Amino acid sequence: MFSNKEAFKQAFREQLVGRLGKPMQEAQAEDVYKVLGGMIREQVGKNWAETNQAYKEGQEKQVYYFSLEFLIGRLLGSNLLNLGVLDMVRQALGELGWDLEEIEEQETDAGLGNGGLGRLAACFMDSLASLGYAGHGCGIRYKYGLFEQRIVDGNQVELPDYWLQKGNVWEERRPDKKVEVQFWGHVETREEDGRLVFETQDAETVWAVPYDIPLVGYGHAQVNTLRIWSAESALDPVRGPIRGEGGYYRFLDYNRSVESISAFLYPDDSNYEGKLLRLKQQYFLCSAGLQSILRTFEKLRLPYSQLPDKIALHINDTHPTLVIPELMRILMDVKGLGWDEAWDITTRTVSYTNHTILSEALEQWPVNMVRELLPRVSLIIEEINKRYCAMLLERYPGQDIKIGEMAIIHGEQIRMAHLAIVGSYSVNGVAALHTQILKEREMKPFHELYPGRFNNKTNGIAHRRWLMHANPELASLYDETIGTRWRTRPRELIDLLRYSGDESFKERLQAIKRSNKVRLAEQVFAKQSVRLDTSSIFDVQVKRLHGYKRQLLNILHVMHVYNQLKHNPSLDVVPRTFIFGAKAAPGYYLAKQTIKLINNVADTINRDVDVRDKLKVVFLENYSVSLAELIIPAADVSEQISTAGKEASGTGNMKFMMNGALTLGTLDGANVEMHEMVGDDNMFIFGMKVDQIEAYYRDGQYSARKTANSDERLREVLDQLVNDAPFTRHEREFEAIYQSLIDHNDEYFVLKDFAAYVDTQVHIEQVYRNPSEWTRRAIVNMAHAGKFSSDCTIQQYAADIWNIVPLQNDVNKRILS
Ligand SMILES: *Cc1c(COP(=O)(O)O)cnc(C)c1O
Repeated sequence: MFSNKEAFKQAFREQLVGRLGKPMQEAQAEDVYKVLGGMIREQVGKNWAETNQAYKEGQEKQVYYFSLEFLIGRLLGSNLLNLGVLDMVRQALGELGWDLEEIEEQETDAGLGNGGLGRLAACFMDSLASLGYAGHGCGIRYKYGLFEQRIVDGNQVELPDYWLQKGNVWEERRPDKKVEVQFWGHVETREEDGRLVFETQDAETVWAVPYDIPLVGYGHAQVNTLRIWSAESALDPVRGPIRGEGGYYRFLDYNRSVESISAFLYPDDSNYEGKLLRLKQQYFLCSAGLQSILRTFEKLRLPYSQLPDKIALHINDTHPTLVIPELMRILMDVKGLGWDEAWDITTRTVSYTNHTILSEALEQWPVNMVRELLPRVSLIIEEINKRYCAMLLERYPGQDIKIGEMAIIHGEQIRMAHLAIVGSYSVNGVAALHTQILKEREMKPFHELYPGRFNNKTNGIAHRRWLMHANPELASLYDETIGTRWRTRPRELIDLLRYSGDESFKERLQAIKRSNKVRLAEQVFAKQSVRLDTSSIFDVQVKRLHGYKRQLLNILHVMHVYNQLKHNPSLDVVPRTFIFGAKAAPGYYLAKQTIKLINNVADTINRDVDVRDKLKVVFLENYSVSLAELIIPAADVSEQISTAGKEASGTGNMKFMMNGALTLGTLDGANVEMHEMVGDDNMFIFGMKVDQIEAYYRDGQYSARKTANSDERLREVLDQLVNDAPFTRHEREFEAIYQSLIDHNDEYFVLKDFAAYVDTQVHIEQVYRNPSEWTRRAIVNMAHAGKFSSDCTIQQYAADIWNIVPLQNDVNKRILS
């Protein structure tokens, strides 16, 4: 039905009427979305089944990517794109009187993630399928995704994100594949044939029911699977233990408590919360995912010693670390293997990605909590720790402090990062700088203990979604200019370098940027009634709100620019629009205050006729994947201004680079690698380097107060945080922010980097005045952005960590036949 336009139109008409039971003329955009989505699902279904069959027969090694987050966004557009029918369908729908963009907007974003970590998992799924690897996702089907953000009187208000309200055309519920997951109870041991057998008694059993989402690759017939798990009660209402008086209500209460396991995504990014329900979620995913994977493995009828040859289990940060003890448990208690063999298999199967060194993000679970909720798993972790510490003692005799620092269990806490390192064969950081910091500082003793285990895999982004789908005009220009090979070989974008001096090419790029700015401005006006000047510089910072990401530095600078214009109204500046988008964790007070400050500043500036033509500030509500796809292609300046050493990689930076924005950034995360490629001339680098920050943290020599007092501009904006007018709505409104900067000595060096930031912003303005030069720099960036495609990243994971190769072409052909 997707073979040609006329056939598609015919099938579409029939399905629309057939499925909806109403005449064509009465169809709404939502109906069109549902029917089109259903048609794609159907189309994909055959290849999906064939792929699974081919995997089974070919016995290819399978990778399973465990992640508590998959921030996939919408699927309609990317599926059409990957199936190679996007343009055809857009045309066909147009001829039937529908606008594809409007149809796409009917889809609710699948917001099953917080930010970069979850989006990375989604980009990896795209690349795995597009490169022909057998790689799948294992996640949780949260009933509520990341909250929906509303701004009310300048404050963030969180609304529940019931993303499934209108149904989900992509998923397939697979009740026949459900598995049991056990919590609580107590462990009993007995001897059987001379060995100790462990059995958990009186456990609470819940069902894990999988929902499968097909993952369609670009230019590949095979279809991989994202399997997300939902918790359901396993109680039988007839025979179950809850009977007698009030039994029905207790039954319902019980169901609700079970379903709470997969009820919502924790909205804390880069922040650890030791909540029991979160631990339940983690174990639920690990246990359900593993059981279903091992069931597939058993169909191969191979001994477990060959598990590492057929299966790779990857854990996205420490959140799914329980995969390690859970695999041990199943291998020993269910499959009857001994400890040494089980440990050997486990540590040859599991690999781990570290995403952060922020201390507040490092997971540690209280031993007592784990002991109660997961009694058998806790025994296994304690045994892993015991054996590991014994090995350390042998290696480092008498060095008790060192051993304490390296232990998995310490001070009645289980350090998940240590368990993940000890229990896996590969530990990777997510950018060169981050990996270096892991090896040389944060995890130095582990690197010395296991020198071959640490490696770098710089993050990447699905360039088809972030370029071809988000910025179709730019993609078409590339096709025309350098051909279409970059779509599957993103490094070939380097051919664009030849056009960095081509004025007519530059003009076309400028026209595309302008048209993307107009598109964004229209949406902003429709949603928030703010008019943007599309000839101004669009200076954009969109990402989660966090102290280390330093939205505060950005807004203090905006306040300073405003002050300058008020002092000197005739100042010659290039008009600028500062665009923010960020969700704050609901319990993160300073982050929420920062949102309020940005909105106050926006309100004051946008109302002030004196600065009207020169300065505008907008905070865009509810930053999400689909909003990112709209904003990023319209950006001129990409703000990547984290405190050096704090942003492990960043992926927003890559999306902007690929869409022709110039980066204003610190030498942090992947910015360092961008800088190495494009050089000083093509990036606006400012601020302290990691080493300087380190030195300050070490010797405690930094005085925020002194820094503030020695800079007139800073004194002025700091006063404005607490004094009446122009940005506060009541006295001392931003006292907490002020205190964090002055009394608590500015943990993230906002004040220290302020002067350098201001200077660099002036420099940006100078360069922007020369459009040809600005665009030349943008071209250099776009040409080098191919390295940051997740295709490249996944090829490195495949070769260096997972040891897998793409599915052979003949298999692809068979799927197609
Ligand atoms: C890419 C992305 C992020 C990560 O952005 P960073 O700037 O790397 O923090 C967060 N949220 C969404 C919706 C994204 O698309």
